[in-house]
Amino acid sequence: MIIIMLGAPGTGKGTVAGLLSEGLGIPTVSSGDIFRKAIQDRTELGIQVEGYLSRGELVPDDLTIKVIEDRLNKPDLANGVILDGYPRTTMQAEKLDKFLEGQGKKIEIAINLETPREELIERVVNRRICSNSECKTIYNLKLNPPKQAGLCDKCGSELTQRKDDNEEVMNNRLDTYFKQTQPIIEFYEKKGILHTEKVSLSINRMGTDVAKELIERLKK
Ligand code: ADP
Ligand code: ZN
Repeated sequence: MIIIMLGAPGTGKGTVAGLLSEGLGIPTVSSGDIFRKAIQDRTELGIQVEGYLSRGELVPDDLTIKVIEDRLNKPDLANGVILDGYPRTTMQAEKLDKFLEGQGKKIEIAINLETPREELIERVVNRRICSNSECKTIYNLKLNPPKQAGLCDKCGSELTQRKDDNEEVMNNRLDTYFKQTQPIIEFYEKKGILHTEKVSLSINRMGTDVAKELIERLKK
């Protein structure tokens, strides 16, 4: 089963993807995680993409598409994948369709999370992530704090903050999202596979609630 996560930064795509992955037994591929790992490991790719991430801009399509297609070709994804953060442009969405078509596969559902902008900034600034690359559990200092300050509940590793999770870069990421990624929502709507969910404190509905319902629905 192929699932796509759409939504602005901070909506909880990563959290929902992680829960769906556990619940459905399908691996997650996060383009942002691939880029961050490359930067951390100082690989050729990391050097190429670092500037874009630090400014909150998208990595160019040709490079991103190649990186993701290489990853999608790996045997561990033969039974499905949850794509978190890809596609993010019309070009990427079209290329992904072609790529999957070539493998006789198609996207089951595109999950689109919507949250008010003020809430997104607040959430991202308070976000902390487990530094253990096998774990990567996401916390929020206000909404979902770890039991012991600075440490992951699940594995005890230190929590870190993403370099781009500050208000200035976040504003750029949001502008980039509304300009370049928002248009692909319509692309999936036209295909009849779009599933939009409002996620907000104001309606007391969070990513965890959405994930629970979707797991039941998609298991069938
Ligand atoms: P978020 O959705 O919270 O901004 P991600 O981890 O998905 O975070 O992405 C972090 C950064 O990685 C983006 O700001 C962008 O620079 C780069 N990136 C991730 N996915 C893509 C993509 N599909 N196309 C281009 N750039 C990407
Ligand atoms: Zn952990």
